[in-house]
Amino acid sequence: MRIVHRAVELESTHRCVLVPTMGALHDGHAALVRQARAESERQAGKPGIVGAAVGKEGSRPPVVVTIFVNPTQFDQRADLDRYPRTLEADCKICERAGADVVFAPAVEEVYPPGNSLRVPRLPEVATEPGLEDAARPGHFAGVCQVVLRLFELTRPGAAIFGEKDWQQLQVVRAMVAQERLSIEIIPGPTVRESDGLAMSSRNRFLSPQERAAGLSLSRALREAHAIDRVADAEARLRAALDSAGVQVDYAVVREAESLRRVGTGHRGSYRAIVAGRVGTVRLLDNAPWPGRGG
Ligand code: AMP
Repeated sequence: MRIVHRAVELESTHRCVLVPTMGALHDGHAALVRQARAESERQAGKPGIVGAAVGKEGSRPPVVVTIFVNPTQFDQRADLDRYPRTLEADCKICERAGADVVFAPAVEEVYPPGNSLRVPRLPEVATEPGLEDAARPGHFAGVCQVVLRLFELTRPGAAIFGEKDWQQLQVVRAMVAQERLSIEIIPGPTVRESDGLAMSSRNRFLSPQERAAGLSLSRALREAHAIDRVADAEARLRAALDSAGVQVDYAVVREAESLRRVGTGHRGSYRAIVAGRVGTVRLLDNAPWPGRGG
């Protein structure tokens, strides 16, 4: 596995399978890298694709993990400053999970001074739902900017994004469609601790009591799963979070891709999505919601 810091050192990552991260990697990220490796091997087995994709890394598209704490997506300076940076350990995780290249650029490499980078027009799902877009103003502008820039630097054929950040996954999908990029966006399932807590780089900041309160997010989703009216499911989500002392940002059931409110008689797939603060730590989670809507 190669570790590179400069874009010029990337070489031959054209049509790679990309896993963008901010580092402080845990088993959830490792699962995405393993998924990327499996995708790379699957593509290698497909006649016609390999020819264009062979890089120096071998006879399959390389698996590239980017590790970059993107300052433009943080709405709180304190959150950016305390974001954990653990590059050495991250590289070991990437290597074990089957990455070929780790790209860990400095801020100036991603945002060269004096070079005004394009922020794409934000898709509706990044501005309308009133979820992360409302809780973290400017966040998705930063996400879209950095994702587009990382795509430009690494030129992937496919990129893996975790379902853990459900709205982000939909925003990236919508942006790729809007920009007509030929990059397949592949969702990666959420990896959880054995008690249900979704893994997150921020979990390390939870005290034991806060961690117990944080468990209410996955519990709320499990409880709401069994309730088949939207309003009742949302009430159950909120009650479960309130009773654990979570400061709720939102606790909703939405149309899974557009994140629009569920209309009466609407058919499709839905997602229950929750976010809130436990102490100073912000937690998110979501799950499929199979209720009938209305
Ligand atoms: P992050 O660096 O944590 O902001 O996220 C990098 C990628 O990992 C994003 O696509 C996240 O959605 C994904 N991710 C974060 N936590 C998990 C998890 N517990 N399971 C699966 N994917 C995750």
